[in-house]
Amino acid sequence: MLKKVLVANRGEIAVRIIRACREMGIRTVAVYSEADKNALHTTLADEAICIGPALSQKSYLNMKAILEVACLTGADSIHPGFGFLSENSDFSKMCEEIGIKFIGPTADLIELLGNKSKAKQTMKNAGVPVVPGSEGILNSKEEAIELAKKIKYPVMLKASAGGGGKGIRIANSENELAREYDLVKQEAKLSFNDDSIYLEKVIENPRHVEFQILADEYGNCIHLGERDCSIQRRNQKIIEETPSSIIDEKIREKMGQIVTKAVKEIGYTNAGTIEFLVDKNKNFYFMEMNTRVQVEHPITEMVTDIDIIKEQIKIASGEKLEYKQKDIKINGHSMEARINAENPAKNFMPCPGTITGLHLPGGNGIRVDTAIYADYTIPPTYDSMIAKVIVHGKTRGECISKLKSAVAELVVEGIETNVDFILTILNDEKFIANDYDTSFIESQGG
Ligand code: ADP
Ligand code: ADP
Ligand code: MG
Repeated sequence: MLKKVLVANRGEIAVRIIRACREMGIRTVAVYSEADKNALHTTLADEAICIGPALSQKSYLNMKAILEVACLTGADSIHPGFGFLSENSDFSKMCEEIGIKFIGPTADLIELLGNKSKAKQTMKNAGVPVVPGSEGILNSKEEAIELAKKIKYPVMLKASAGGGGKGIRIANSENELAREYDLVKQEAKLSFNDDSIYLEKVIENPRHVEFQILADEYGNCIHLGERDCSIQRRNQKIIEETPSSIIDEKIREKMGQIVTKAVKEIGYTNAGTIEFLVDKNKNFYFMEMNTRVQVEHPITEMVTDIDIIKEQIKIASGEKLEYKQKDIKINGHSMEARINAENPAKNFMPCPGTITGLHLPGGNGIRVDTAIYADYTIPPTYDSMIAKVIVHGKTRGECISKLKSAVAELVVEGIETNVDFILTILNDEKFIANDYDTSFIESQGG
């Protein structure tokens, strides 16, 4: 078993990983930026070392500094969390080269799947249905226009290296496509330093349904069911739930078989998520694979009773999966809301600052994953997500009641949050009736 894990992240996910390690008797090393001297992850880890100024490029994305700390402290492994270096194949390759175990898939697979257009080709070849669109990346505007004529508008242009909901645009006509082709290329270059883009058909009013998989280093792979993440604002998830109401046992089994077969075929290891769009007729199309732990992993943990972070560490330690597919039972329902430090009244502008008063909800079936505390100052430099409120109940209805109650109980004074925005969704008739898709928030004017 791994003995000392360096956690190359911050915020609630760093805390989540440190706690899992502690429960497993594994020592932890935190790295932190000058802005995070008083952060919870810095305090909770066995050792903590400052790796640079607030700016991510100089700290949490500073590969050399992080690897130096790993060597200096004798860490045998690095958990990258999500965001930052979690999907950086150069970083995982550097870890491999200096004999530090990167807790995730191999560098080759991160590289292959991180390129969204290549990932689509790979999955298609492995028998997974994909969203119709360009074969690989687009070479010219003319090619995009030709293809769009064939597959019919609306179409979507996407950055091949994209993530976090960025670098995506819809075109409804040839004129729009011609204009946006240049825009998305520019955005992709700026945000991801890679201007390759691809095109796919817009699936109308889809659900976002993703499968959580675990694969060990001996060719065994299981899935832990799906998560429905259709409640999104600007392609970013806000509320997630499992099971998805549009996935029945038959489709779950079919999709599960397709994903586990594909994962085995490409030789993927550790935890991963395969994202699909599902249309009204329940056709499903592969969209992308995330080669890391997801923000919304806790809802899967609640219904399967499997600790995904611990599984990641066990797999990276060279252990065999102790579960077979038939051992996986989905128990009840779970739902998560992402609490962000932002102001919905001001176009969701981030709202960092000092938390002057704090009360976190608790109780039966309520879990809060967070790194905030009273008097903590949220730095302006990083992601605005400050907490995840997760509930577990027998039914979807019970989850909605519990989540409403928990979120309403939450008090974060001194800053603005999206709590009221979340309550509005939870009280919405259509949401309650399960009548929603990825356009839900937009169609509410949000
Ligand atoms: P999830 O599916 O887990 O919600 P997201 O795509 O929302 O994943 O990303 C999780 C975190 O990683 C978010 O904080 C997001 O901003 C960040 N992230 C994901 N991809 C990128 C990227 N390519 N560049 C920068 N940040 C990213
Ligand atoms: P990211 O890497 O930023 O997570 P994704 O490719 O996963 O990007 O897409 C993010 C979201 O954008 C999806 O969850 C979905 O809501 C929407 N989306 C992406 N592709 C399509 C498509 N072809 N048709 C309709 N919606 C899409
Ligand atoms: Mg995605």
